[in-house]
Amino acid sequence: MATRRPRRAPRTPGEHFAVLDPATGEDFAQAPDQQPEELDAVVARAREAWRSWRADPVARTTALLAAADAVTAAGADLAPLLTREQGKPLAEAEAEIARTAARLRYFAALAPEPQPRPLDDGRPVRSEVRWRSLGPVAAIVPWNFPLQLASAKFAPALAAGNTMVLKPSPHTPLATRLLGSVVATALPEDVLTVVTGQEPLGARLASHPGIRQVTFTGSVPTGRAVAVGTAASLTRATLELGGNDAAVLLEDVDVERIADRLFWAAFRNCGQVCMAVKRVYVPARLHCDVVEALAERAKAVVVGAGLDPGTQLGPVNNAPQLARVEHYTARALADGARAAAGGHRLDRPGYFHAPTILTDVPPDSPVVTQEQFGPVLPVLPYGNLDEAVAAANDTGFGLGGSVWGTDLDLAGAVAERLECGTAWINHHAELSLAQPFAGTKDSGVGVAGGPWGLYGNLRPFVVHRPEGP
Ligand code: NAD
Repeated sequence: MATRRPRRAPRTPGEHFAVLDPATGEDFAQAPDQQPEELDAVVARAREAWRSWRADPVARTTALLAAADAVTAAGADLAPLLTREQGKPLAEAEAEIARTAARLRYFAALAPEPQPRPLDDGRPVRSEVRWRSLGPVAAIVPWNFPLQLASAKFAPALAAGNTMVLKPSPHTPLATRLLGSVVATALPEDVLTVVTGQEPLGARLASHPGIRQVTFTGSVPTGRAVAVGTAASLTRATLELGGNDAAVLLEDVDVERIADRLFWAAFRNCGQVCMAVKRVYVPARLHCDVVEALAERAKAVVVGAGLDPGTQLGPVNNAPQLARVEHYTARALADGARAAAGGHRLDRPGYFHAPTILTDVPPDSPVVTQEQFGPVLPVLPYGNLDEAVAAANDTGFGLGGSVWGTDLDLAGAVAERLECGTAWINHHAELSLAQPFAGTKDSGVGVAGGPWGLYGNLRPFVVHRPEGP
C-alpha cells in the first residue's frame, strides 16, 4: 500500500462556518461547511480505498503504528487548537491527544482470530468462523472529547480493515480536521476522511446508502434520529448516548478522603463528560458534611480560559449548552433548591458558569432527572440503601454509576444493583482501552472498546466443509 499525503477536502470557495472560542464567545477561525451532496464522492473514494486497505493486515498494523507516532509528534499543534475550540485546560487537551495515540497503538496490535468450531450434532463437518471488514463506515462525534471520541471510532474501524468518513461536531471541527490530516500522512489516501459542516451533513452521512456501519456518539434525541436514518438504509449502527450517572455514598464513607476524587468525577471537563457523576446520593446523617466538602472545592477551583496556566476548569463549550445549564440551575433554585456554591453563570465574556453545588433539590427537578452536562451537581440525602438504589436507577439513562465507602464487599453488592454499563467503587469514569464500553437503557446500543470494539467493526464469515474428501 503506497502512503501518500492526504488530498485537500473538495471546496467551493466561500462555504465556511465560524468556529467560536468558548473562553471569549468570539469566532477565531473558519471551517469548511461541506454540503451533503459532497458525501457521494467522499464515500465513493472511501469505498475504492477499502479494496487495498482491507487486504493486508500487516501493512495496516504498520500504518496505524506510524499514525500513532504522527499524532504524538503533532501534539504541540493539536493541543492548543483543541483547547481553543473546546475550552478544556491545556493539560487535559494534551492528555486527550496521548489517549488518542494510545488507542491507535492498542488497536494496531489487535487482530481477529479465525475460530474453528466443530459442529456439535455429530456430523463430520467443520465450520470455521473468519472475520471480514465491512467497507466504508461512518462516525459522528460530539464536542466534549472530539479527538478521543474520534479515535475511539477510527482506531478499531481502520484496524478491522474498514475505511472511514468521520464527522466532528460543528462546535469543534478544527482539531479533528488537523488530527485527520496528521493520521492520513501515515495512511493510504482516502482511508480516513474528515468532513466538516452543519446539519443536514450528519443526517445525510448516517443514511448514506454507501456506508456499511454508523458509529455515533452524542445525545439521545440525535441518536434516535440516526437510528431512523440507518434503519432506512438497513445499515448497522452503534449508538453511544447520554448518561445521568449517580454516585451512591455509603454510611461508612470517609468524606474527606474521597471528596477530591468525587468532585473531579463530576466537574472534569466542566462536567461535560457522558460518564460524569451527575447526581450524588448521601446518607442523611452525612449530607451536610458532603455538601460542605464539595462546596469548599467548588469555591476554590480556578476557573478560566483553558490556555491560561493554572486554569483547572474551563468554560462550557457553547452557548446553547450554557443556556441549558443555566436553565436547569435556575429551575432548581426556583423550586426551592439552595446553591451551596455557585448557582449562576459568571459575569465575564465567554461561556463560563460557576462550579455549582445544589442542595435541597426536589428529586423531580430536571437537574436531577435529566442530563445537565455542565458544572452543576445536585447532592441528595437518602434514608436507607434500598431508597438510594431505587433513586439511582430511576432514570431512563444507564451509562455508569458508582458506590463510595470503606466496606468494599458492601460497596460491591450495591454496585451490582446499579442498572448501568459500568459501575465503579470509590472511583468514577476510569476506563481502560481493553474493556467493553456499553450503556444500557437509553444510553446506547452496541459495544465499543477492547476486542468487542474490533469485532463490532467486522462481520463473521463462515466456511463450512466436510472433515474428509
Ligand atoms: P448531539 O447529539 O447534539 O450531536 C452529536 C453529533 O451529531 C454532532 O456531530 C452533531 O453535529 C451530529 N448531529 C446533529 N444532528 C444530527 C442528525 N440529525 N443526524 C446525524 N448527526 C447529527 O450531541 P452533543 O451536544 O454534541 O454532545 C453531547 C451529548 O453527547 C451528551 O448527551 C453526552 O452525554 C453525549 N456523549 C455520550 C458519550 C458516550 O460515549 N456515551 C460520550 C460523549 C458524549
